[in-house]
Amino acid sequence: MSSGEGMAVELLESDDKSMKVEFRGVPLAVANAIRRLIISEVPTMAVEEVLVIENTSGMTNEILTHRISLIPFVSDIDHHVPPDECTCGSKLGCERCVVRYVLKAEAGDQPLTVYSRDMVPENPNTTVVPVSGNVPIVKLAPGEKIELEVYVRVGRGKMHAKWQPGIATLYESKGTEKRILFVESFGFLEPKRMILEAIKILNKKVSELAHVIRGV
Ligand SMILES: [Zn+2]
Repeated sequence: MSSGEGMAVELLESDDKSMKVEFRGVPLAVANAIRRLIISEVPTMAVEEVLVIENTSGMTNEILTHRISLIPFVSDIDHHVPPDECTCGSKLGCERCVVRYVLKAEAGDQPLTVYSRDMVPENPNTTVVPVSGNVPIVKLAPGEKIELEVYVRVGRGKMHAKWQPGIATLYESKGTEKRILFVESFGFLEPKRMILEAIKILNKKVSELAHVIRGV
């Protein structure tokens, strides 16, 4: 149990994918704002753009790029920013606003399934990697070939669901002031980080509002 200012939080369950916490004395509006911010505004990293250099597979470019865009990436949001918040001003981006991957595969005499692990990062030391290497992307028939450049960028769930960091639900123990927040991560960020980021965003919004009101 952790408490302060008439509020208390108890950790009910936790593992690397999910977290269940009980709030006491936290107003419903605040708890619900945290839940909503987790879903829509906590930043994560996913494929924002794909450049198709070659694709002779049976899959159209649109479906191929859509499939790749749904792969979650372990997100380093301490060292990366969304393109519109970056100071580089470059359309191609810099190391703070883009992580580049190349995906090149060709089937020989046998069919070949291409997986997320076949994507090769431009910077071999990047920590921004697919959450799972076992996501099948496309199956190539003998002789078929793909070559793509993949751009992973920071985004938010409100822009596209591919950036949604996980699910968050809030429910009330009947007749009490206790509320339970359950957070499950898709792997972009740790569950605790998802909650802390949502609180940080809420703080920022409230500060901005105070700033605007001061100027009225
Ligand atoms: Zn940049």
